[in-house]
Amino acid sequence: MKKSIIAFPRIGSNRELKFALEKYFRKEISEDELQIVAKELRLESWKSQKEAGIDYPISNDFSFYDQTLDLSIALGVIPERYKKLKLNELDTLFALARGFQDEENDVKARPMKKWFNTNYHYIVPEISKETVIKANFSKLLNEYQEAKTAGFETRPTIIGPYTFLILADYLSGVTEDAILSDLIGAYTILFDQLNNLGGEWLQIEEPALVLDQTEEEQQLFIKIYQELLKNKNKLRVLLQTYFGDLRNSYQEIIKLDFDGIGLDFVEGRESVKLVQKYGFPKNKLLFAGVVNGKNIWRNHYQKTLSLLKDLGNIDNIVINTSCSLQHVPVTTENETKLSKEILNHFAFAKEKLVEVSEISEIYVKKNTSLLDKNIALFDKNRVQENIQLKQKIIHLTDKDFIRTPSLVERRADQIKALNLPLLPTTTIGSFPQTPEIRKSRLQYKRGELSKSDYEAFLEEKIKECLELQENIGLDVLVHGEFERNDMVEYFGEQLDGYIFTQKAWVQSYGTRCVKPPIVWGDITRPQAMTVRWSAYAQSQTSKPVKGMLTGPVTILNWSFPREDISLKESTLQLALAVQEEVLDLEKSGVKIIQIDEAALREKLPLRRSDWYSEYLDWAIPAFRLVHSKVKAETQIHTHMCYSEFEDIIPSIDAMDADVISFEASRSQLSIIDALKAHHFQTLVGPGVYDIHSPRIPSSQEIKIQLEKILNKLPIEQVWVNPDCGLKTRGNKETIPSLTHLVEATKEVRKGK
Ligand code: GLN
Ligand code: ZN
Repeated sequence: MKKSIIAFPRIGSNRELKFALEKYFRKEISEDELQIVAKELRLESWKSQKEAGIDYPISNDFSFYDQTLDLSIALGVIPERYKKLKLNELDTLFALARGFQDEENDVKARPMKKWFNTNYHYIVPEISKETVIKANFSKLLNEYQEAKTAGFETRPTIIGPYTFLILADYLSGVTEDAILSDLIGAYTILFDQLNNLGGEWLQIEEPALVLDQTEEEQQLFIKIYQELLKNKNKLRVLLQTYFGDLRNSYQEIIKLDFDGIGLDFVEGRESVKLVQKYGFPKNKLLFAGVVNGKNIWRNHYQKTLSLLKDLGNIDNIVINTSCSLQHVPVTTENETKLSKEILNHFAFAKEKLVEVSEISEIYVKKNTSLLDKNIALFDKNRVQENIQLKQKIIHLTDKDFIRTPSLVERRADQIKALNLPLLPTTTIGSFPQTPEIRKSRLQYKRGELSKSDYEAFLEEKIKECLELQENIGLDVLVHGEFERNDMVEYFGEQLDGYIFTQKAWVQSYGTRCVKPPIVWGDITRPQAMTVRWSAYAQSQTSKPVKGMLTGPVTILNWSFPREDISLKESTLQLALAVQEEVLDLEKSGVKIIQIDEAALREKLPLRRSDWYSEYLDWAIPAFRLVHSKVKAETQIHTHMCYSEFEDIIPSIDAMDADVISFEASRSQLSIIDALKAHHFQTLVGPGVYDIHSPRIPSSQEIKIQLEKILNKLPIEQVWVNPDCGLKTRGNKETIPSLTHLVEATKEVRKGK
């Protein structure tokens, strides 16, 4: 056994699962019809794996929504309010995932969180006093059996008890101890049942092992598995980890009675060192995660082989992916627009199966022709290097990253230039994208609408949007972002160096998939990207209109990045391109420029000790580079989608923006205390209402929210705005909401 993967994408190469689920949600198909689509997808996946020579295709990696939610269901961790709905198992699962409403019931969805450092989201398990663990692993067992009937001996996969305990929410003083022994009992039942079916292997995923672990957490893991592994009988158990290394507990873990241990050699920077230092037991298989499960580039076989060599003499190596392949698109086969030469450089999930198999072939049988082919691919210059750009980056000095005069000094210039009232009101940028707007953009893209007609249409919409904002009484206006489909794709399309796929979808949560653009080469800006619209908007009103840009870190975090140059290098290239745009906007007369860094926090490394050296030390300066050259009186804003930055407040201040807006309406404003405690310098616009819901907040409610903010922060530091862009909302709720926002602000101003 030499070839393995951790899991395969389940959405289907044409997003079949998404479309079937949406039909099921709209009650257009029955559960049986939905199950047929699911079954076909599973079969397809096992076939692909077997054809590529994977020894044990994976089962139970399929999910209708999320694998953590599947585990909650399998353990009976279903809060009472969902049980009360008396739905069948599948609809209970969807009620937890999406909420449930009918005449009698109104239950909210369980919260969703980012799955480690990916853009996938899981449904957070809820443990309360009422929780009673009751094992029902029928989904796993049925899928195992289904595969067997179809002729595949699979390795079922499941998230492990330790990760489950770490990720769960605990209500009202309940702790892990309350459910620990029942939890171990549940997995013991699974071991027995799988043994009875003749299962050969079980894969237990424990990604929580790559997080910083306390002493107690290390002990907890050991305690669980010492107990559990006593009961495995004939079943062989693989402990699968990913997204990092086991630096806290490797030595202890290898002593446990696992039959295989899966380590990540792509993101696990210390994995090789750990194996070299402490060895790897002879009686276990080492599942070596060497094929990157998160990025789309072909594996560099020579580098992989030398990595495997560095591990020393280990007999029992299985070639594996670094993590589940659910984080990459399904296959390059359906891409008809990109040239063969370009596609040759990509390996999506299906192509990665072949890579695993080829690496194994080269490793074991020393197949040199496969190796030579791969060497040739990397020998050719894939892209021409932009020497000028490279030189420019090399010659950047500290001064390029520092805006002068300082934040506090330039504030006076801005007050004079902008002449804004106390508590200036504004929005985050986009206004509702009505069906009319989406239709015109599509028609223009398809060539059904001429450029001049489309531009005239956009100008009309901008004008309407400005009038609307003036009538409402907002102080700082926006043009509405009607020309943009998406805040990253819009810039990617206008920058040199980006390419786009047709079908490279990746699941983000539930039925939502994203199609990140690909950084192919060096990034440059052939011409101004937004000046036309921002300058037009500014020419239509005497109030300041913000120029709207996406920042370099967010553009990169929501793209597939290059692997031949560092993330830092790519980010700096993007930063220089955005810098040019900033300076052009300033030249055109725009006085306030907002550079969104919605996804800045997203790629923060999982381990605290890596936060600065691996990320913030270059990400924050990259943002500074973008705006370091503007005049003192030009005001720079930024926006972050979450308020979860309490632990990196000094870094956020170090972005040196003049104003930052962020989501705070749902987080009980605890962030405000933290800002105060850290003497945060930047002016702040904590979102005063939640735009993620159609609910209209009353003036009174906004006023109370504002008073709360002003209890903690000096009035001179505060801006008033919603918590994110309005593009997904309708005008119906947006107009009254903003009207109330302005009313509430005026009331509060009067009292000051
Ligand atoms: N300016 C963007 C908008 O308003 C910001 C979006 C975001 O933060 N995700 O749509
Ligand atoms: Zn946002």
